[in-house]
Amino acid sequence: MLSKDAPVKILDFTPVQLAEFVKSFGEPVSQADVLLKSIYRECASTFEEMTGLRHSLKEKLAEQAVLGLPEPVDEKVSADGQTRKVLFRLEDGKTIESTLMFSKITRTGRVRHTVCVSSQVGCAVGCNFCATGRQGFDRNLEPGEIIGQVLYFTRRFGFGGSGESQKSDRSWLTNVVFMGMGEPLANYDNVRQALAMINSPKGFGLGLHQVTLSTSGLAPQMLQLASEGLQFQMAVSLHAANDELRGRLVPVNRKYPLGVLIPACREYVAKTGLKIFIEYALFSGINDSMNDADGLIRLLNGLSCSVNLIVGNPAGSNEFNPSSMDAAHEFQKRLIAGGVRTMLRVSRGADIDAGCGQLKSRWIKFEKD
Ligand code: SAH
Ligand code: SF4
Repeated sequence: MLSKDAPVKILDFTPVQLAEFVKSFGEPVSQADVLLKSIYRECASTFEEMTGLRHSLKEKLAEQAVLGLPEPVDEKVSADGQTRKVLFRLEDGKTIESTLMFSKITRTGRVRHTVCVSSQVGCAVGCNFCATGRQGFDRNLEPGEIIGQVLYFTRRFGFGGSGESQKSDRSWLTNVVFMGMGEPLANYDNVRQALAMINSPKGFGLGLHQVTLSTSGLAPQMLQLASEGLQFQMAVSLHAANDELRGRLVPVNRKYPLGVLIPACREYVAKTGLKIFIEYALFSGINDSMNDADGLIRLLNGLSCSVNLIVGNPAGSNEFNPSSMDAAHEFQKRLIAGGVRTMLRVSRGADIDAGCGQLKSRWIKFEKD
């Protein structure tokens, strides 16, 4: 039901829904493509400035719809200028964060622009080492609120620098990762819809290897997503190789223990033909011993995967201290010797708390000051 109090948010629509919406006004469906082009390519901010949109449709849209872009309210840039964290205020006043990371691939010299998006306000999984988890769950993000985070950065930076062109440079955005606040698979429908728009040539047009969804291990939803025909990589936040420890670190393990999660990973690989990424944050004295590494080697035996090690970020808890770089290198060497493909990643934007699991914590402190 349309009402004056709640205008329709165009960013919440899939291309098909948008066509239906345009048709409901008695306008040609081709106008839906004009709208999409104006939003995703030409970075229009108002219906009025959209070229090619019929006057009659502009008037109806102005009355009944809004784009639904999130409002940036604060920003922090890391000292090296390579990581930028933006705090957005949503329509209901809740806040979320997104991060933009610039990086250069040494081998090829190509530049990557990765947007890390949030999928929920807070998170119900409640991992103790994670700032979002300690905050508790508030609500799911709508598809447009997820898409809007990506759109914000592409509109601001994706202009080839000069700002002369009014068209967004399609090749500017290279990656989207669902590694901000929230558990994406606990907001299944909205995340799937956002993924579809990220994949769509009418949206961001990103494909396989460019989009990564990170989950704490919601096995049934992982398998459901495997059959959706969308193009992205799956990362599983494992952090422990036995149920006792993982149950303490990632509480959802009590619902989907390793005996369920690892077979689901195998099935995911079989269904999609893709390898899985395993995320493992190293915390000193908790999960970084050689015993832990050996357990991981045994657990991952035969699974087509690649392990991403990261030294844990201190997220304001005394219990979780980052492992030393030496310990991390030893852990990596052990895994590689055990036949497990392993990368040791450097945490990004640590000076602005943009590292995994730190999002929002400092803003809350800031807001309370
Ligand atoms: N909820 C999803 C995605 C968001 S969290 C998930 O858990 O996978 C993104 C990543 O940050 C996950 O791999 C998560 O385990 C990791 N993370 C959270 N807190 C962290 C911390 N303090 N140090 C390092 N990684 C952390
Ligand atoms: Fe939620 Fe992921 Fe944080 Fe765990 S690590 S509390 S699943 S956001």
